[in-house]
Amino acid sequence: MAARELARAGLRVVLLEEGGDHLPRHFTQREDEMIPELFQEAGGRRTDDLAVLVLSGKGLGGSTIHNTNLCKRTPPEILAHWRDDLGLEGLGDGVMNRAFEEVERDLGVRPIALDQTSRANELVKRGTERLGWRGALLSHNRDQQCVGSGFCELGCAYDGKLNARRIVIPQAVSAGATVYSDARVDRVEHDGTRVSGVSATLTDGRGRAHGTLHLRARAVCLAGSAIGSATMAIRSDIPDLHGQLGTHLRIHPAAVVAGVFDEEVAAWRGIPQAWECTEWLDLRPGSTRRVWLIPSFAHPVGTASLTPGFGPAWLGAMRRYPRIVAIAAMVHDETAGRVYLDGDRTRIAYVPIDADREQLALGARQAARLLLAAGAREVTVPAIPPIVVRRSRDLAAITRERFTPHDAKLSAVHPMGTLRMGRDPASSVVDARGKHHQLRGLRVTDGSLFPTSLGGPPQISIYTFALKVARDLVEELAR
Ligand SMILES: Cc1cc2nc3c(=O)[nH]c(=O)nc-3n(C[C@H](O)[C@H](O)[C@H](O)COP(=O)(O)OP(=O)(O)OC[C@H]3O[C@@H](n4cnc5c(N)ncnc54)[C@H](O)[C@@H]3O)c2cc1C
Ligand code: SF4
Repeated sequence: MAARELARAGLRVVLLEEGGDHLPRHFTQREDEMIPELFQEAGGRRTDDLAVLVLSGKGLGGSTIHNTNLCKRTPPEILAHWRDDLGLEGLGDGVMNRAFEEVERDLGVRPIALDQTSRANELVKRGTERLGWRGALLSHNRDQQCVGSGFCELGCAYDGKLNARRIVIPQAVSAGATVYSDARVDRVEHDGTRVSGVSATLTDGRGRAHGTLHLRARAVCLAGSAIGSATMAIRSDIPDLHGQLGTHLRIHPAAVVAGVFDEEVAAWRGIPQAWECTEWLDLRPGSTRRVWLIPSFAHPVGTASLTPGFGPAWLGAMRRYPRIVAIAAMVHDETAGRVYLDGDRTRIAYVPIDADREQLALGARQAARLLLAAGAREVTVPAIPPIVVRRSRDLAAITRERFTPHDAKLSAVHPMGTLRMGRDPASSVVDARGKHHQLRGLRVTDGSLFPTSLGGPPQISIYTFALKVARDLVEELAR
């Protein structure tokens, strides 16, 4: 988004992406082939203690290539907190709504019909309604080329996603931007007061170096995700008087709960995620209801790795795969993790604090209740040993104690916050315009910006903040 805006303003723009340029014909719908291609660390990136799987993308278009296209604006409660409590300027309702509308128009965001989605969404809706809970169908950025194949997380072979690769990157190129894929930025060059360019390694598609690239630039926008951008900043020795780089990481940690139904659900058919249950999501500061419930579908290998047990017991569980509906209980987290470098290796320190483990348990409990209400015969929380729920009174077994590291299986797909916005340089990295507090010419245009977790899907917020930051940069460069 930043590349497009800067190019449209007539600036000379170069966009560098460490992953490849994946086209629809490359998406084979096979986990073994696509996950290593499309995800950082071949889909195996984990927190330091290996307890949380952290998925984020690699390739032109970033995580929008394999995301599930849910679109939601930054929640009003979150914007109000950033504006009123943290003092961030420029986040008034009028300005923000106009920016959201513009981004949604660009990305073709629209409501989708429930009958285009997987049966799992219908069942989660049924459970929500039977309990009288709050829920809604979400809008998506996909068009009529989407045939509902259900493979969104492995890249779309039908080119039905209106993602960064299909929309904003071609617009950037039309406006004159130059794009390099397989080009890993090693350093942002600077003299301690202002940026002067970047140095990158060109790779052969398998990560093997075959050249270098040095670019001189008046401005550099970091857009490598909350993990990649923090790593780039640390590796580049960006001024960090107050030790803020890489800190305050949020990830929306999620527990998955699986219900087995009598009917064949075949959750792999149809658009995978569309219905949200927000009954347990109150985003006001200090809230003790911080979980977002959303259907979660895993392909067979992913499901196999999450299914607890060994031998015949495990095989029996996997045989029920066609009848499973899973829900992810994602926590609007307060844990402050940290991205850091260990030699050249990116590391993530993140251990959920007690209050967030309480929320994981709350989310898993309520997701299990919802699945029972929807008609599940049995619900399993994949933990060691698994927690099996057949009736309401079994729900009491889902407690915070079961969410210690390595007990329940946790995953996260929304890294945020490592170069966060703030007024005070002692507790933030950039200001409300994404501008680094000390280093002139350095901006941040990705999920690293957010000073707190969002409590929902981040892509619309990221596109929108990138748009705002880039426009501000254009004005600054013109001055
Ligand atoms: C499975 C999955 C499903 C999701 N579903 C949704 C959804 O439905 N809705 C939603 O809103 N969000 C969803 N998300 C999250 C959303 O896609 C991400 O939050 C968002 O794309 C992050 O944007 P970003 O710009 O911060 O980083 P990314 O989109 O991750 O892009 C960063 C890019 O920078 C590149 N990079 C990193 N370091 C370097 C370097 N040194 N040099 C060059 N390039 C580098 C990376 O390879 C990557 O391509 C999902 C995520 C996952 C993993
Ligand atoms: S469900 Fe639609 S967008 Fe997702 S992979 Fe299939 S065709 Fe593409």
